[in-house]
Amino acid sequence: MVGGLKELKKELFNKTKLVAMLAPSFIVNFDYPEIITQLKDLGFDKTVELTFGAKIVNIEYHKLLQKNKGFLISSVCPGSVYTIIEKKPRYLANMIRVYSPMIVTAKICRKLYPKHKIVFISPCYFKSREATTTDDVDIVIGCNDLQRLFDVKHIKSRKVKGKISFDKFYNDYTKIYPLAGGLSKTAHVKGALNPGETKVIDGIVDILKFLDKPDKKVKFLDCNYCVGGCIGGPCLRRDLTLEEKKQRVLAYVKQALKTKIPKKDKGILEKAKGIKVKY
Ligand code: SF4
Repeated sequence: MVGGLKELKKELFNKTKLVAMLAPSFIVNFDYPEIITQLKDLGFDKTVELTFGAKIVNIEYHKLLQKNKGFLISSVCPGSVYTIIEKKPRYLANMIRVYSPMIVTAKICRKLYPKHKIVFISPCYFKSREATTTDDVDIVIGCNDLQRLFDVKHIKSRKVKGKISFDKFYNDYTKIYPLAGGLSKTAHVKGALNPGETKVIDGIVDILKFLDKPDKKVKFLDCNYCVGGCIGGPCLRRDLTLEEKKQRVLAYVKQALKTKIPKKDKGILEKAKGIKVKY
């Protein structure tokens, strides 16, 4: 059973030890690194970003695409997975059977923080449905829910002195994951497939249209339910244009590249040893 906002409020009240897992699209709604202080002020014990999970997922995608001869569809976006299965069930066998960065990161967190409850802060509610397929995510709330909690508790984004970063698994280059095509770019799909064999589509209407008459040359469909990718998610700010949201992601990447992170906090592969990535 996956909880939502009500369960999170209960756990915060009970002072349960909590890990906040942030989708990298959080930067559309919040500032970095101020968000970490805000989460700690709210009552979270640990904060991590999904970017390390995305790196592990990418490695699997790259390997699969190198070996595969047929047509494969990305499965990191539950919105597109559930809609394709419902509307075009014949494509079920083409879905890549690798967990999403949310599930992979949750599995790593469970291993590292076995007594904590794991809370995913999401750009959409499809992730709540996806979380029911694993025992590793306890609660899912939207970024908009988190903002409401901050408002109620008067927790503001404030400048903090000294270095502050996520607790673990820091990873830079997958911070562009929430942009359309972020997966194929960071999984270095170009190195696994020939030109013209990858198709990036954002927006479920266009995805379904493509699947009606697929281009036979395409070996990999990198797709996102939302227009623009996760930055177009319904739980994110609506007062910004997609271009403004994209610029916030790119500025975050730039800022992150300049930040020195201690090796112990980086997302190195041995930290994911023994984690089940495929299903
Ligand atoms: S693209 Fe939209 S539906 Fe898919 S995971 Fe991102 S926010 Fe959710």
